[in-house]
Amino acid sequence: MRQFTQPIAQVANISNVLQQTVAAAERVFEFLDEEEEPEDTKTPASVSNIKGDVTFEHVHFGYTEDKTIINDFSATVKNGQKVAIVGPTGAGKSTIIKLLMRFYDIQEGAILIDGVNIKDFTRNDLRSLFGMVLQDTWLYNTSIKENIRYGKLNATDEEVLKAAKAAQVDHFIRTLPDGYDMVLNEEASNVSQGQKQLLTIARAILADPQILILDEATSSVDTRTETLIQKAMTNLMKGRTSFVIAHRLSTIRDADMILVMKDGDIIEQGNHEELLAKGGFYETLYNSQFEEVEAS
Ligand code: ADP
Repeated sequence: MRQFTQPIAQVANISNVLQQTVAAAERVFEFLDEEEEPEDTKTPASVSNIKGDVTFEHVHFGYTEDKTIINDFSATVKNGQKVAIVGPTGAGKSTIIKLLMRFYDIQEGAILIDGVNIKDFTRNDLRSLFGMVLQDTWLYNTSIKENIRYGKLNATDEEVLKAAKAAQVDHFIRTLPDGYDMVLNEEASNVSQGQKQLLTIARAILADPQILILDEATSSVDTRTETLIQKAMTNLMKGRTSFVIAHRLSTIRDADMILVMKDGDIIEQGNHEELLAKGGFYETLYNSQFEEVEAS
């Protein structure tokens, strides 16, 4: 299947494409692959034992030569850690993710996974390490069971069930007339927004990726569903390196590292306490953007 005929770097709304995607990244990107991308290395490194350490070393990047977006960014993320990326729209949050998944090559510096330069993996292998749960859920006009199984096509029914339980959605599925065999309609409008999110989390748990990309949903759900989503997310992130485009206080507060972005640059980095103590942009952002969330 090839839905996109332009070179990937020219697909300006790649983030829209990304936002329609969930879980097993490699299948998502199959149809984004383009000949125009530079060739993969002839002697690729293996991804079979990757744990998920991520290092950015003096990364420089701009979409165009005249505008640097990422300027000398360095960070070391240990496997299992949670990185929250915060900042206003257009700040560059998704750019970081696009570089990590090698949609674009950086101009200077290096991005390493378990000490291996990401350029030394094939793109397919690299992208197979990632799982994604993004704002818009991507569900199909098929049964709930098959929607979850999309995370790992050869998964047994028991594995699907286990993933649904970990994603806190098993109880809900069992209340449906056809249970796991219920077919979602075209827009998946026969389940609620919150339930859709839980189903995509179940799919990501089943996919069992080393590195997670989460774009937290901003849409409001009821308190009970919110609690279920939080629990499901915790189960999903356990033991995995996670990059979260964060909108929630809880995510930001307990993140191992927060990258604060503004106008396409990482201007502050540290954990919540360190950044608040600094009294810089993070503090301003936190007070304005997040106090509302906290109050609600
Ligand atoms: P965020 O995810 O924080 O909303 P982005 O990473 O999407 O921000 O964008 C960061 C900056 O890079 C913005 O100024 C945006 O206009 C620019 N940008 C994003 N994608 C492209 C692209 N494909 N080509 C040129 N500029 C881009």
